[in-house]
Amino acid sequence: MSALLETHGLTAHYGDFQALFGIDFVVEPGEVVALIGANGAGKSTFLKSVTGLLKAPRDSVRFGGETISGLAPDKIVGRGIALVPEGRRLFPSLSVEENLMIGGFTRRAGAWNLNAVYKLFPILRERRHAPGTALSGGQQQMVAIGRALMSNPQLLICDELSLGLAPIVVKEIYDALPSITQDGLSLIVVEQDVATARAVSQRLYCLQEGRVSLTGRSQDVTHEQISKAYFGI
Ligand code: ATP
Repeated sequence: MSALLETHGLTAHYGDFQALFGIDFVVEPGEVVALIGANGAGKSTFLKSVTGLLKAPRDSVRFGGETISGLAPDKIVGRGIALVPEGRRLFPSLSVEENLMIGGFTRRAGAWNLNAVYKLFPILRERRHAPGTALSGGQQQMVAIGRALMSNPQLLICDELSLGLAPIVVKEIYDALPSITQDGLSLIVVEQDVATARAVSQRLYCLQEGRVSLTGRSQDVTHEQISKAYFGI
């Protein structure tokens, strides 16, 4: 079986500052992979490089067996990668439904549409005419996930879903993930909360100062290994 997503020796720079140093990272079809690491470790930079928001070196990112490094972000969405960005980034003046429709702009064939999103998060059907600004943080996160699913991705990347949300809301959001992955969709979950990251994923990668400091099966890695990989002590 060939990998769905594969980065090989991925590097990233902001001007003279190097943020990633040769990241090798694999996601298999249907797999949930967690990406953890302290603030500034390089998680968002990695996601930006994979989704085309930062230019990745030639041949360093492959998806479905083909090179995608160098493609524009919308072309990468068209290949089947969708991002749920940190901080949700909804259009505040647009309604829930309009925000979801924007996600369907680069639409691939598949089962996700407005009805499927409303079935996943019934509260969004009730609030479909409400503007983005009128929603709770949890509801905004549901819209951001729904918007990404509307493109019918093969790989969904979620950046810090739990940021700023109450634990009970975080649980509600994470409880929806199995219905999202049941048809074989793969997930990368970036999480500050290590316990949540381990619980929802099959494998994890930890970044430290732009390098992979630990990778393994989420249930097999120990607390000691994670602490060392996080902080380098
Ligand atoms: P966080 O959990 O805080 O989002 P992160 O693991 O996602 O952290 P990145 O945001 O990828 O980390 O940052 C990696 C490194 O790159 C940090 O040292 C950060 O200061 C630097 N960096 C990030 N964005 C920029 C930028 N636009 N210009 C310059 N340096 C940046």
